Amino acid sequence: MSIERPIHTAEILCVGTELLLGDIVNTNAAYLSQRLAELGIHVYRHTVVGDNPERLKHALSAAFAEADLVITSGGLGPTYDDLTKETVAAFFGRPMELHEPSLTAIRAYFERTGRVMTKNNEKQAMMPRGCTVFPNHYGTAPSLAVGNEEGTQTVIMLPGPPGELCPIFEEEILPYLKSRRTSVLVSKNIHIFGMGESAVETKIQSIMTESKNPTVAPYCKEGEVRLRVTAEAESEAQASSMCDEMIERIRATEVGEFIYGVDIGSLEQAVVAFLKQNGLTLACAESCTGGLIAKRLTDLSGVSEVFLGGCVTYANEAKEKLLGVSHESLAKYGAVSEQVAREMARGVRERLGADIGISATGIAGPTGGTAEKPVGTVYLGISTKDGEEVRKLSLSSMRSRDYIRKVSASNAYDMVLKLV
Ligand code: ATP
Ligand code: MG
Repeated sequence: MSIERPIHTAEILCVGTELLLGDIVNTNAAYLSQRLAELGIHVYRHTVVGDNPERLKHALSAAFAEADLVITSGGLGPTYDDLTKETVAAFFGRPMELHEPSLTAIRAYFERTGRVMTKNNEKQAMMPRGCTVFPNHYGTAPSLAVGNEEGTQTVIMLPGPPGELCPIFEEEILPYLKSRRTSVLVSKNIHIFGMGESAVETKIQSIMTESKNPTVAPYCKEGEVRLRVTAEAESEAQASSMCDEMIERIRATEVGEFIYGVDIGSLEQAVVAFLKQNGLTLACAESCTGGLIAKRLTDLSGVSEVFLGGCVTYANEAKEKLLGVSHESLAKYGAVSEQVAREMARGVRERLGADIGISATGIAGPTGGTAEKPVGTVYLGISTKDGEEVRKLSLSSMRSRDYIRKVSASNAYDMVLKLV
């Protein structure tokens, strides 16, 4: 019997020389961190040690200087180098004893899988006195939790293979930890387009530095910025409303007009939601994006309700034949021009009978740029029965072809959202 006190902070300690050698990637640490964050348990540190009892003991002492909980992965197997359980037992001064139910379960596992049980598999049924054993339906090594007498330090030991660790965590460890936590964390993502990361940070600097709960952390990716708002509270409802208050504060700043959604997934998801809400249909005409605008939309299932189709018109002739772009505009202004973008958007809208037509024509590089129209020059058109508009992008010519195409498609979606 041991006392179990609430858990606030944790360290993830992965055991395995193969991790140190770089033979395998430490996916268990990332997985465990995410799951613990959702539970409101703060992960202070990730550590990796080789299959070495001395270093493992050291790592445990260091971890408990700050954390209430250490979750280990690996080293629970039957072989001589699997030493986690024995080392943790010694750390807490607990003797190893045979755990009959585990031995029965291991025997049954071998019978079920038609394998021969060897003597060293019995080692897996030896457990530190006073531990809590969690059954393993996915392998032979049972997981366990053990701690000090005072209940202030707990180690949860999980097997290394992710195919065992993940389901055991979901089925056994999650309920165990829920019973020992004191708070929950809730996170919400604010999606921003059209304002760069440093501009966003400058506008909400004081909110970001002042606020400790909720916290606000920015992430940026291909022209987009996300702000992750995380609140900690006693209940999920309370944490959720703390997030909502913070989101309203951020909406009230200059960043507000660039927010296209909260927890909406992506720009294309926002576009589809917008079209569905308003009962509108969309068609696209693409040159430099080569189908990416349509591709990202059609990655989402159920989009056929609102997305009618698109044309990839790369050559001038294709723009004329499929979209009705005028020969004169192409000759006079060139394919990469405001006029052509406008006619492409109009052409695809009219031909497919859509409410909204969008288009992209530009120079994605790395070749094909001129002094007048350098790489990164892109014109995006939008056409509805009520009007037309063109947005010109002048992206850096140092950007990759991939980046220029992605950002162009994102801007086309943004233009649809700005129709509101
Ligand atoms: P087994 O009974 O399979 O020996 P074990 O608990 O002793 O389980 P290890 O021997 O340490 O676990 O690791 C077994 C395998 O699990 C490794 O070879 C590797 O493929 C995978 N593994 C171990 N640790 C990690 C980790 N941190 N992240 C991802 N995979 C891991
Ligand atoms: Mg092993």
